[in-house]
Amino acid sequence: MRAAVIGGGITGLSVARELLARGHEVTLFERDARAGGLAGSFRVGDVWVERFYHHIFKTDGAVLDWIGDLGLAGRLVWRPSPVGFFHGGGVHRFGTPLDLLRFRPLRPMERVRMGLAILRLQRMEDWSALDRVTCGEWFSRHVGANAYRVVWEPLLRLKFGGSYDRIPAAWIWGRIHPRARSRSRGGMREELGYLDGGFERMIERLKEEIVARGGVLREGVPVTGVIAEGGAVRGVLAGGTEAAFDAAVCTVPIPEFLKIAPPLPGADRARLEGIDYQAVVCLVMECRESISPVYWLNVSDPRITFGGLIEHTNFIPPERYGGRRIVYLFNYVDADDPLWRMDADSYFRAHEASLRLVNPAFRREWVERTHLFRARHGTVVYTLGYRDRMPPFETAVRGLSLVNTSQIYPYDRNMNNCAALGRRFVEERMGEGRR
Ligand SMILES: Cc1cc2nc3c(=O)[nH]c(=O)nc-3n(C[C@H](O)[C@H](O)[C@H](O)COP(=O)(O)OP(=O)(O)OC[C@H]3O[C@@H](n4cnc5c(N)ncnc54)[C@H](O)[C@@H]3O)c2cc1C
Repeated sequence: MRAAVIGGGITGLSVARELLARGHEVTLFERDARAGGLAGSFRVGDVWVERFYHHIFKTDGAVLDWIGDLGLAGRLVWRPSPVGFFHGGGVHRFGTPLDLLRFRPLRPMERVRMGLAILRLQRMEDWSALDRVTCGEWFSRHVGANAYRVVWEPLLRLKFGGSYDRIPAAWIWGRIHPRARSRSRGGMREELGYLDGGFERMIERLKEEIVARGGVLREGVPVTGVIAEGGAVRGVLAGGTEAAFDAAVCTVPIPEFLKIAPPLPGADRARLEGIDYQAVVCLVMECRESISPVYWLNVSDPRITFGGLIEHTNFIPPERYGGRRIVYLFNYVDADDPLWRMDADSYFRAHEASLRLVNPAFRREWVERTHLFRARHGTVVYTLGYRDRMPPFETAVRGLSLVNTSQIYPYDRNMNNCAALGRRFVEERMGEGRR
């Protein structure tokens, strides 16, 4: 089979890898100059740094398989990852059960109930009932309305904006349940994984492997249309010319898919159009000094204008980056949010006062360089009852498939689940026959 894989993010790389392993002819089209998508990187000095902060968990089997297969296991590091919550003018640790017991923004009984609720989600195997109840309802029932308001509501608002109160509790299950085994020391401490030199190394190796197995990698070449004839894929339009293919596997976000797909039945199109995405804006700051005491700082304080602050060099030491501190500030936004259109300088200024709230010593002079990255389709907004609306791989056009993060629910949309999704798609369509 001659397959066009459209989109060179983690999902597209995974699909291409799996198809090649079964002996198919593959051409991978990536619109940007470099494949990688949301997991792509840029250079700080001579080191790759992700445009959007990235780490992996010990339970991320599919990505760990890749790292092993690609000969990168020696570069994998596991490190403790201190997490905090900014609330009421201070940073409160929030990464371990002990932190939770000491978490002053909640009353003692609420802390205990929160711990029990998290334990319950970790142990629950069947999540289907959680698809029909919102996070707000579930947590208010199990932890109380105040604890929901302090901890979960800000996190949901941060990620899903105005849709925060329509998100199913299954989404939180999908984040908590699989991570239970990512902890060490009897569950006391979570260690996160990173590839020394950046995840770009994994992407580079994947690309090399695709080419070595006879795949064609076309970076910087957007697909502008999938052409169908007699109800089946005939080829794709890319770089102004048509190339013949028997199958087109689209791993791009749904709105991009709808732009290039051949005509689809109205009901199928409407179903896909009903799935929304939140945009994400992320400022990477190269700093002289450390701003935050933790790696991952959540925010539950209405005075703070950014959604979260991630100090990557509280996870991977600054020496790796020539002594620079790498700090991410980010907001998930609606596309009409003024933050979405800002340049790096305006975005920094919009958050400068908040940085000083987190660290009163913070000075603008600490920031030596900034880099702003945006993604219009940062995350799918899963709403109540999403399970039944989740799109299938196959479409009404023979040979045209959709494989993307809209099909990962209730699990977190992360590199591992995208790698696993690509593998599952090919296994379901082509069977096990890997060479
Ligand atoms: C802020 C943020 C933080 C994250 N943190 C983590 C983390 O810590 N750990 C983790 O594992 N994951 C993390 N992720 C998630 C992870 O990056 C994504 O799940 C994954 O990269 C998505 O891959 P994808 O291939 O499905 O989609 P995408 O990365 O969106 O790839 C789609 C690709 O298609 C291309 N494309 C679009 N249209 C066309 C076209 N017409 N023709 C050709 N190409 C086209 C795009 O350029 C893009 O490269 C994070 C994501 C974000 C946004």
